[in-house]
Amino acid sequence: MKEIVVQKFGGTSVADTDKIKNVARAVIREKNLGNDVIVVVSAMGHTTDILTKLAKEITPNPSSREMDMLLSTGEGVSIALLAMALQAQGCKAVSMNAMQVGIITEKIHSKARILEIKTERIREHLDNGEVVVIAGFQGITEDFEITTLGRGGSDTSAVALAGALGAKRCDIYTDVEGVYTTDPRIVPCATRLEQISYEEMLELAHAGANVLHPRAVETAKQYQTPLRVRSTFKLDNLGTLILGVEQMELHKPVTGVASDLSQLRIVVCDVKDNPGTAAVLFDGLANENISVDMIIQSYARKDLNTNDIAFTIDKNDLARTKTILEKLKPELEYSNVFVDDTIAKISIVGAGMIDRPGIAAKMFRTLASLDINIKMISTSEIKISCLVDQARANDAVEALHKIFGLDCDEIAEVKGDLPDV
Ligand code: ADP
Ligand code: ASP
Ligand code: MG
Repeated sequence: MKEIVVQKFGGTSVADTDKIKNVARAVIREKNLGNDVIVVVSAMGHTTDILTKLAKEITPNPSSREMDMLLSTGEGVSIALLAMALQAQGCKAVSMNAMQVGIITEKIHSKARILEIKTERIREHLDNGEVVVIAGFQGITEDFEITTLGRGGSDTSAVALAGALGAKRCDIYTDVEGVYTTDPRIVPCATRLEQISYEEMLELAHAGANVLHPRAVETAKQYQTPLRVRSTFKLDNLGTLILGVEQMELHKPVTGVASDLSQLRIVVCDVKDNPGTAAVLFDGLANENISVDMIIQSYARKDLNTNDIAFTIDKNDLARTKTILEKLKPELEYSNVFVDDTIAKISIVGAGMIDRPGIAAKMFRTLASLDINIKMISTSEIKISCLVDQARANDAVEALHKIFGLDCDEIAEVKGDLPDV
């Protein structure tokens, strides 16, 4: 039996018909190496943004069910066009959407998790010698509702398919040549990493490095699927390999720096300093599927028996969060709610920072030297994040990238030209 390779091509890679023909050539090249090939594609170019804008022109608060119906159409266009391009180049191919495959998800619109992937129909097509082109980003619930996996979710579709089918490799083709020490579009002297661990990549992805969807990394780790990020436009380059941390040598404390401008900070003032207050607040948010990232509870004011709770959420969840806070006001008895939407989360990530003291202090000292104020801090074993003013985000990333020795002239790694997008 032939081995399976899953290839995923993002929006920029299929932005127009010439690029789709180019992708077809990359697929045929992989098939000619003797592999069975499954291709996962995103919507063309900025289609998902354009569809979102259309919905907002109809209503500021479209229902999440109808948003999923709308956004899932984008990937439907790409799969059909790519299957046609493959057929036109003499390659047997068939397109399939999530319903036809059976990509079963939770019934949570706009950020569903994949529960199961049926593989029978895919295998029938592979046995028939066809390349199977599958729509990324979309799923279907047990009761036939269309769902989507969250922005950037086609990566997760590809890795989950690779896991379910026991593929030997999942290649994520994109518009840069791999995973860099930071976003190469923001810091030109970013360095391409030959390899990075699942754990570090997961932290970087959560910290805003949108080159990979966080759940794609989680899934690859779970199935131990070898994952590569590589360039659609330079097919001979192997890009970056993502693998287990135990297989790596750690020379530097910090592997990468990321910034995330997608969050905002909410401060709930003067809540009662009683057991259960935080539980009421965060239960209320969790029941509406609103994810909270950083949380700080201030030191209690003993005279008033109150304190403040600050937390960060995705900007898109603001309207729903406000409704929940309004509902909980009688229970929480807060005095005020402040929203700060001019923040950026800046993170440094590295498995090499374990047991190396002084990394956090160096980060804070670097930000202080630029007169950048830190509004919140959170840490994990291999990550330190600081919330700063959005206007200073790029200054912070550049300075941290340099001070932790990641600039490409220091690592002497050769980086190719970035294609225009
Ligand atoms: P696709 O449409 O192929 O899924 P994305 O736009 O989702 O592409 O992801 C690729 C982009 O991720 C790059 O163009 C780059 O600007 C951005 N990026 C952010 N952080 C990093 C990083 N550390 N390494 C590489 N790219 C990064
Ligand atoms: N088309 C979706 C998006 O733009 C999914 C993806 O590209 O991964 O977010
Ligand atoms: Mg992406």
